[in-house]
Amino acid sequence: MAAKLFIVSAPSGAGKTTLVKELLKRFDDIVYSISHTTRTPRQGEVHGKDYFFTDKAQFMEMVESGQMLEWAQVHGNCYGTSGPFVQEQLTAGQSVLLDIDVQGGRQIMDFGLDSVSIFIMPPSLEVLEQRLRGRGTDTEEVIRTRLENAKGEIAQKSFYTHVVVNDMLDEAVAELIAIVEQETAK
Ligand code: 5GP
Repeated sequence: MAAKLFIVSAPSGAGKTTLVKELLKRFDDIVYSISHTTRTPRQGEVHGKDYFFTDKAQFMEMVESGQMLEWAQVHGNCYGTSGPFVQEQLTAGQSVLLDIDVQGGRQIMDFGLDSVSIFIMPPSLEVLEQRLRGRGTDTEEVIRTRLENAKGEIAQKSFYTHVVVNDMLDEAVAELIAIVEQETAK
């Protein structure tokens, strides 16, 4: 299997986390890049597994010392990908998957780094709103911000190599698996 850098982006509530988990279950030779974030952990999230939870000062130190491959402010918090980690994996012939927002995805595309980018679309904005409310984890204000941001993110989907609509979960997973198989066979 050829080592590839996969970028998966989606508006929050599009079901990306579930899809990424399913994909990683299927391809145990793809490494998930654990991001750094200044966001506070949600219930059940584990430091070093879901994210590396850092404070703003530590985060900015990583940015200033050139350790972030990309970073962005998303919904008021900072998120970033470790450059040395990704480089090490790719050099060792290991594919890496980044679950990052559109700003980060576009930074990587703009560097000209070879990558396969996948944008996950919700079936509609109405369904996205229902899913965000259904999670029950966010306040009304957070839901409103995320819906507004979703519109801006969806407007940039054409920069991505592949677009997958997550309507029926099984179908979206099958589509993602086919993309990864096809890309790693190249
Ligand atoms: P959440 O707070 O819901 O875990 O993530 C919010 C958004 O931040 C998601 O769209 C997620 O993909 C994005 N994100 C997570 N890690 C990174 C990262 O390292 N860089 C960038 N640019 N976005 C990230």
